[in-house]
Amino acid sequence: RAKELGKNCYEIFNEDIQAGALAHMDIERGLRNALQHDEFELHYQPIINLATKSLAGFEALIRWHHPEKGLLHPASFIPVAEESDLIVEIDRWVLQRSCSELSQWHKALSFQQKLPSVSINISARHLAAGRKLIDDIKDTLKQSGLSPETLIIEITESAIIKSMDTAKTILNQIKGLGVGLHLDDFGEGYSSVNLLKNVPFDAMKIDRAYVTGMKRENPGSRLLRTIVELGHSMDKAVIAEGIEAPGEAELLKSFHCEHGQGFLFSKPIKSEDIGSYMEQFPM
Ligand code: C2E
Ligand code: MG
Ligand code: MG
Ligand code: MG
Repeated sequence: RAKELGKNCYEIFNEDIQAGALAHMDIERGLRNALQHDEFELHYQPIINLATKSLAGFEALIRWHHPEKGLLHPASFIPVAEESDLIVEIDRWVLQRSCSELSQWHKALSFQQKLPSVSINISARHLAAGRKLIDDIKDTLKQSGLSPETLIIEITESAIIKSMDTAKTILNQIKGLGVGLHLDDFGEGYSSVNLLKNVPFDAMKIDRAYVTGMKRENPGSRLLRTIVELGHSMDKAVIAEGIEAPGEAELLKSFHCEHGQGFLFSKPIKSEDIGSYMEQFPM
Protein backbone atom coordinates (compact mmCIF):
# COMPACT_ATOMS: atom_id res chain seq x y z
CA ARG A 1 0.00 0.00 0.00
CA ALA A 2 2.93 2.32 0.72
CA LYS A 3 3.81 1.95 -2.94
CA GLU A 4 0.32 2.99 -4.01
CA LEU A 5 0.46 6.07 -1.86
CA GLY A 6 3.80 6.91 -3.42
CA LYS A 7 6.00 9.59 -2.01
CA ASN A 8 3.14 11.11 -0.08
CA CYS A 9 3.21 8.15 2.22
CA TYR A 10 5.62 9.86 4.62
CA GLU A 11 3.54 12.97 4.79
CA ILE A 12 0.53 11.19 6.11
CA PHE A 13 0.95 11.30 9.86
CA ASN A 14 -1.99 13.40 10.86
CA GLU A 15 -4.82 11.06 11.81
CA ASP A 16 -7.50 13.04 10.03
CA ILE A 17 -5.60 13.09 6.81
CA GLN A 18 -4.90 9.41 7.20
CA ALA A 19 -8.58 8.67 7.81
CA GLY A 20 -9.43 10.71 4.70
CA ALA A 21 -6.89 8.86 2.59
CA LEU A 22 -8.19 5.54 3.78
CA ALA A 23 -11.81 6.48 3.09
CA HIS A 24 -10.70 7.60 -0.34
CA MET A 25 -9.01 4.27 -1.04
CA ASP A 26 -12.10 2.52 0.26
CA ILE A 27 -14.29 4.36 -2.21
CA GLU A 28 -11.87 3.60 -5.06
CA ARG A 29 -11.87 -0.07 -4.22
CA GLY A 30 -15.65 0.02 -3.89
CA LEU A 31 -16.05 1.67 -7.28
CA ARG A 32 -13.92 -0.96 -9.02
CA ASN A 33 -16.03 -3.59 -7.39
CA ALA A 34 -19.21 -1.75 -8.35
CA LEU A 35 -18.22 -1.80 -12.04
CA GLN A 36 -17.60 -5.53 -11.87
CA HIS A 37 -20.76 -6.34 -9.95
CA ASP A 38 -23.18 -4.01 -11.69
CA GLU A 39 -24.01 -1.88 -8.65
CA PHE A 40 -24.68 1.32 -10.62
CA GLU A 41 -27.97 2.41 -12.07
CA LEU A 42 -29.22 5.39 -14.02
CA HIS A 43 -32.10 7.61 -13.05
CA TYR A 44 -33.55 9.89 -15.72
CA GLN A 45 -34.72 13.44 -15.16
CA PRO A 46 -37.16 14.89 -17.72
CA ILE A 47 -36.28 18.03 -19.68
CA ILE A 48 -39.45 19.93 -20.54
CA ASN A 49 -40.29 22.42 -23.28
CA LEU A 50 -41.43 25.46 -21.25
CA ALA A 51 -43.77 26.84 -23.92
CA THR A 52 -45.59 23.62 -24.85
CA LYS A 53 -45.01 21.61 -21.64
CA SER A 54 -44.00 18.67 -23.82
CA LEU A 55 -41.18 16.26 -23.08
CA ALA A 56 -37.91 17.09 -24.84
CA GLY A 57 -35.64 14.47 -23.33
CA PHE A 58 -34.03 13.07 -20.22
CA GLU A 59 -30.75 13.60 -18.42
CA ALA A 60 -29.17 10.36 -17.19
CA LEU A 61 -27.90 10.68 -13.62
CA ILE A 62 -25.87 7.93 -12.00
CA ARG A 63 -26.68 6.29 -8.65
CA TRP A 64 -24.68 3.66 -6.76
CA HIS A 65 -26.33 0.86 -4.80
CA HIS A 66 -23.60 0.45 -2.25
CA PRO A 67 -23.72 -3.00 -0.63
CA GLU A 68 -23.51 -1.50 2.89
CA LYS A 69 -24.31 2.19 2.59
CA GLY A 70 -27.42 1.96 0.40
CA LEU A 71 -28.23 4.31 -2.46
CA LEU A 72 -25.46 6.87 -3.03
CA HIS A 73 -25.71 10.08 -5.07
CA PRO A 74 -22.89 11.17 -7.39
CA ALA A 75 -21.57 13.88 -5.06
CA SER A 76 -20.31 11.17 -2.70
CA PHE A 77 -18.30 9.21 -5.27
CA ILE A 78 -17.86 11.03 -8.62
CA PRO A 79 -15.20 13.41 -7.20
CA VAL A 80 -13.14 10.41 -6.08
CA ALA A 81 -13.67 8.64 -9.39
CA GLU A 82 -12.53 11.79 -11.18
CA GLU A 83 -9.11 11.56 -9.60
CA SER A 84 -8.28 8.45 -11.58
CA ASP A 85 -9.18 6.68 -14.81
CA LEU A 86 -12.06 5.07 -12.95
CA ILE A 87 -14.20 7.98 -14.15
CA VAL A 88 -13.49 7.05 -17.76
CA GLU A 89 -14.79 3.54 -17.11
CA ILE A 90 -17.82 4.86 -15.27
CA ASP A 91 -18.60 7.37 -18.04
CA ARG A 92 -18.31 4.59 -20.57
CA TRP A 93 -20.70 2.44 -18.56
CA VAL A 94 -23.16 5.35 -18.45
CA LEU A 95 -22.87 5.87 -22.19
CA GLN A 96 -23.57 2.22 -22.96
CA ARG A 97 -26.34 1.77 -20.42
CA SER A 98 -28.20 4.96 -21.32
CA CYS A 99 -28.10 4.17 -25.04
CA SER A 100 -29.31 0.64 -24.52
CA GLU A 101 -32.14 1.79 -22.22
CA LEU A 102 -33.09 4.56 -24.62
CA SER A 103 -33.28 2.18 -27.56
CA GLN A 104 -35.55 -0.08 -25.50
CA TRP A 105 -37.93 2.81 -24.76
CA HIS A 106 -37.90 3.78 -28.41
CA LYS A 107 -39.03 0.31 -29.37
CA ALA A 108 -41.94 0.61 -26.94
CA LEU A 109 -43.09 3.95 -28.38
CA SER A 110 -45.66 4.26 -31.12
CA PHE A 111 -44.57 5.54 -34.52
CA GLN A 112 -46.10 8.99 -34.17
CA GLN A 113 -44.37 9.76 -30.92
CA LYS A 114 -41.36 12.01 -31.03
CA LEU A 115 -38.36 10.24 -29.60
CA PRO A 116 -37.00 11.81 -26.45
CA SER A 117 -33.26 12.42 -26.32
CA VAL A 118 -30.94 11.33 -23.56
CA SER A 119 -28.23 13.61 -22.16
CA ILE A 120 -25.21 12.19 -20.40
CA ASN A 121 -22.48 13.88 -18.39
CA ILE A 122 -18.91 13.46 -19.56
CA SER A 123 -16.08 14.30 -17.18
CA ALA A 124 -12.92 16.31 -17.85
CA ARG A 125 -10.70 13.26 -17.80
CA HIS A 126 -12.75 11.39 -20.38
CA LEU A 127 -12.71 14.47 -22.58
CA ALA A 128 -8.95 14.69 -22.22
CA ALA A 129 -8.70 11.02 -23.28
CA GLY A 130 -9.58 12.39 -26.71
CA ARG A 131 -9.85 9.87 -29.52
CA LYS A 132 -11.01 7.19 -27.09
CA LEU A 133 -14.16 9.13 -26.25
CA ILE A 134 -15.02 9.48 -29.93
CA ASP A 135 -14.52 5.77 -30.50
CA ASP A 136 -16.64 4.95 -27.44
CA ILE A 137 -19.48 7.11 -28.74
CA LYS A 138 -19.26 5.67 -32.27
CA ASP A 139 -19.22 2.07 -31.03
CA THR A 140 -22.12 2.65 -28.67
CA LEU A 141 -24.30 4.28 -31.31
CA LYS A 142 -23.63 1.40 -33.64
CA GLN A 143 -24.43 -1.24 -31.02
CA SER A 144 -27.65 0.43 -29.91
CA GLY A 145 -28.82 1.42 -33.39
CA LEU A 146 -29.78 4.89 -32.14
CA SER A 147 -29.60 7.85 -34.45
CA PRO A 148 -26.89 10.24 -33.26
CA GLU A 149 -29.13 13.24 -32.64
CA THR A 150 -30.97 11.41 -29.85
CA LEU A 151 -27.74 11.39 -27.82
CA ILE A 152 -26.55 14.57 -26.11
CA ILE A 153 -23.23 15.04 -24.38
CA GLU A 154 -23.10 17.48 -21.45
CA ILE A 155 -19.75 19.05 -20.61
CA THR A 156 -19.01 21.66 -17.98
CA GLU A 157 -16.95 24.74 -18.66
CA SER A 158 -14.34 23.69 -16.13
CA ALA A 159 -13.86 20.37 -17.94
CA ILE A 160 -13.14 22.21 -21.17
CA ILE A 161 -10.84 24.74 -19.62
CA LYS A 162 -8.74 21.96 -18.09
CA SER A 163 -7.64 20.86 -21.55
CA MET A 164 -8.74 23.59 -23.93
CA ASP A 165 -6.95 22.47 -27.11
CA THR A 166 -7.78 18.78 -26.97
CA ALA A 167 -11.27 19.67 -25.81
CA LYS A 168 -12.02 21.88 -28.81
CA THR A 169 -10.84 19.25 -31.27
CA ILE A 170 -12.81 16.49 -29.57
CA LEU A 171 -15.97 18.56 -29.22
CA ASN A 172 -15.83 19.38 -32.92
CA GLN A 173 -15.51 15.68 -33.68
CA ILE A 174 -18.49 14.89 -31.44
CA LYS A 175 -20.54 17.45 -33.38
CA GLY A 176 -19.28 15.85 -36.57
CA LEU A 177 -20.88 12.57 -35.51
CA GLY A 178 -24.22 14.37 -35.34
CA VAL A 179 -24.42 14.01 -31.56
CA GLY A 180 -25.77 16.97 -29.54
CA LEU A 181 -23.52 19.02 -27.31
CA HIS A 182 -24.70 21.00 -24.26
CA LEU A 183 -22.66 23.26 -22.02
CA ASP A 184 -23.53 22.21 -18.45
CA ASP A 185 -23.74 24.35 -15.30
CA PHE A 186 -23.24 27.69 -17.07
CA GLY A 187 -22.38 30.33 -14.50
CA GLU A 188 -21.08 27.93 -11.90
CA GLY A 189 -17.41 28.68 -12.43
CA TYR A 190 -15.50 31.04 -14.67
CA SER A 191 -18.03 31.61 -17.38
CA SER A 192 -16.49 32.55 -20.64
CA VAL A 193 -18.24 34.15 -23.56
CA ASN A 194 -15.26 33.12 -25.62
CA LEU A 195 -16.00 29.49 -24.87
CA LEU A 196 -19.62 29.88 -25.94
CA LYS A 197 -18.42 31.47 -29.14
CA ASN A 198 -15.69 29.01 -30.04
CA VAL A 199 -17.12 25.64 -29.09
CA PRO A 200 -19.98 24.27 -31.22
CA PHE A 201 -22.57 23.85 -28.46
CA ASP A 202 -26.22 23.44 -29.39
CA ALA A 203 -27.44 24.58 -26.01
CA MET A 204 -26.38 26.04 -22.71
CA LYS A 205 -27.71 24.84 -19.35
CA ILE A 206 -28.02 27.56 -16.73
CA ASP A 207 -26.77 26.45 -13.35
CA ARG A 208 -29.51 26.09 -10.79
CA ALA A 209 -27.90 28.67 -8.50
CA TYR A 210 -29.40 31.34 -10.81
CA VAL A 211 -32.80 29.67 -11.04
CA THR A 212 -34.01 28.06 -7.82
CA GLY A 213 -35.97 30.51 -5.69
CA MET A 214 -35.95 33.23 -8.37
CA LYS A 215 -38.86 35.69 -8.45
CA ARG A 216 -39.58 38.48 -10.92
CA GLU A 217 -39.08 41.15 -8.26
CA ASN A 218 -35.67 39.76 -7.18
CA PRO A 219 -32.62 41.70 -8.39
CA GLY A 220 -31.25 38.37 -9.67
CA SER A 221 -34.07 37.98 -12.18
CA ARG A 222 -32.49 40.59 -14.46
CA LEU A 223 -29.24 38.68 -14.40
CA LEU A 224 -31.13 35.48 -15.22
CA ARG A 225 -32.80 37.21 -18.16
CA THR A 226 -29.42 38.48 -19.34
CA ILE A 227 -27.95 34.98 -19.24
CA VAL A 228 -30.85 33.62 -21.32
CA GLU A 229 -30.35 36.45 -23.80
CA LEU A 230 -26.61 35.85 -23.88
CA GLY A 231 -27.27 32.25 -24.93
CA HIS A 232 -29.75 33.35 -27.60
CA SER A 233 -27.40 36.00 -28.94
CA MET A 234 -24.94 33.19 -29.62
CA ASP A 235 -27.66 31.09 -31.28
CA LYS A 236 -27.79 28.58 -28.45
CA ALA A 237 -30.96 27.06 -27.07
CA VAL A 238 -31.22 27.57 -23.32
CA ILE A 239 -32.14 25.05 -20.64
CA ALA A 240 -32.70 26.17 -17.06
CA GLU A 241 -31.78 23.72 -14.28
CA GLY A 242 -33.25 23.56 -10.79
CA ILE A 243 -36.82 24.73 -11.50
CA GLU A 244 -38.67 23.96 -8.29
CA ALA A 245 -41.67 26.34 -8.36
CA PRO A 246 -44.29 27.25 -11.00
CA GLY A 247 -43.28 30.91 -10.75
CA GLU A 248 -39.73 30.07 -11.82
CA ALA A 249 -41.01 28.22 -14.89
CA GLU A 250 -43.33 31.16 -15.78
CA LEU A 251 -40.52 33.68 -15.36
CA LEU A 252 -38.18 31.69 -17.61
CA LYS A 253 -40.91 31.19 -20.20
CA SER A 254 -41.42 34.96 -20.27
CA PHE A 255 -37.68 35.26 -21.00
CA HIS A 256 -38.16 32.82 -23.93
CA CYS A 257 -35.98 30.19 -22.30
CA GLU A 258 -36.74 27.04 -24.32
CA HIS A 259 -36.36 24.22 -21.83
CA GLY A 260 -36.45 23.54 -18.14
CA GLN A 261 -35.48 20.77 -15.76
CA GLY A 262 -36.18 20.49 -12.07
CA PHE A 263 -38.18 19.03 -9.23
CA LEU A 264 -41.27 21.02 -10.32
CA PHE A 265 -41.56 18.76 -13.36
CA SER A 266 -40.03 15.64 -11.90
CA LYS A 267 -37.23 14.24 -9.80
CA PRO A 268 -34.95 11.78 -11.60
CA ILE A 269 -36.98 8.63 -12.42
CA LYS A 270 -35.92 4.98 -12.30
CA SER A 271 -35.67 3.45 -15.74
CA GLU A 272 -38.44 0.92 -15.10
CA ASP A 273 -40.85 3.81 -14.46
CA ILE A 274 -40.00 5.76 -17.62
CA GLY A 275 -42.59 3.97 -19.77
CA SER A 276 -45.50 5.00 -17.56
CA TYR A 277 -44.05 8.49 -17.17
CA MET A 278 -44.00 8.95 -20.95
CA GLU A 279 -47.67 8.00 -21.22
CA GLN A 280 -48.50 11.46 -19.81
CA PHE A 281 -47.27 12.95 -23.07
CA PRO A 282 -49.62 11.72 -25.78
CA MET A 283 -48.58 12.74 -29.29
P1 C2E B 1 -25.69 18.05 -13.16
O1 C2E B 1 -25.21 17.43 -14.42
O2 C2E B 1 -25.77 19.54 -13.12
O3 C2E B 1 -27.09 17.38 -12.82
C1 C2E B 1 -28.16 18.04 -12.22
C2 C2E B 1 -28.24 17.75 -10.75
O4 C2E B 1 -29.21 18.61 -10.17
C3 C2E B 1 -28.71 16.33 -10.42
O5 C2E B 1 -28.09 15.96 -9.19
C4 C2E B 1 -30.20 16.54 -10.21
O6 C2E B 1 -30.82 15.53 -9.43
C5 C2E B 1 -30.20 17.86 -9.48
N1 C2E B 1 -31.47 18.55 -9.63
C6 C2E B 1 -32.33 18.49 -10.66
N2 C2E B 1 -33.38 19.28 -10.49
C7 C2E B 1 -33.21 19.88 -9.30
C8 C2E B 1 -33.99 20.84 -8.55
O7 C2E B 1 -35.06 21.28 -8.95
N3 C2E B 1 -33.46 21.25 -7.36
C9 C2E B 1 -32.27 20.79 -6.89
N4 C2E B 1 -31.87 21.24 -5.70
N5 C2E B 1 -31.53 19.88 -7.56
C10 C2E B 1 -31.98 19.45 -8.76
P2 C2E B 1 -27.31 14.58 -9.03
O8 C2E B 1 -28.04 13.48 -9.73
O9 C2E B 1 -27.02 14.43 -7.58
O10 C2E B 1 -25.98 14.84 -9.83
C11 C2E B 1 -25.05 15.79 -9.39
C12 C2E B 1 -23.91 15.96 -10.39
O11 C2E B 1 -23.13 14.77 -10.50
C13 C2E B 1 -24.40 16.24 -11.81
O12 C2E B 1 -24.72 17.60 -11.94
C14 C2E B 1 -23.20 15.83 -12.61
O13 C2E B 1 -22.24 16.87 -12.65
C15 C2E B 1 -22.64 14.67 -11.81
N6 C2E B 1 -23.08 13.40 -12.42
C16 C2E B 1 -24.28 12.79 -12.33
N7 C2E B 1 -24.31 11.65 -13.06
C17 C2E B 1 -23.09 11.57 -13.66
C18 C2E B 1 -22.49 10.62 -14.57
O14 C2E B 1 -23.11 9.65 -15.00
N8 C2E B 1 -21.19 10.87 -14.97
C19 C2E B 1 -20.50 11.97 -14.54
N9 C2E B 1 -19.23 12.14 -14.98
N10 C2E B 1 -21.03 12.87 -13.69
C20 C2E B 1 -22.31 12.68 -13.27
MG1 MG C 1 -25.54 17.55 -16.36
MG1 MG D 1 -25.96 20.76 -14.65
MG1 MG E 1 -24.62 20.78 -11.53
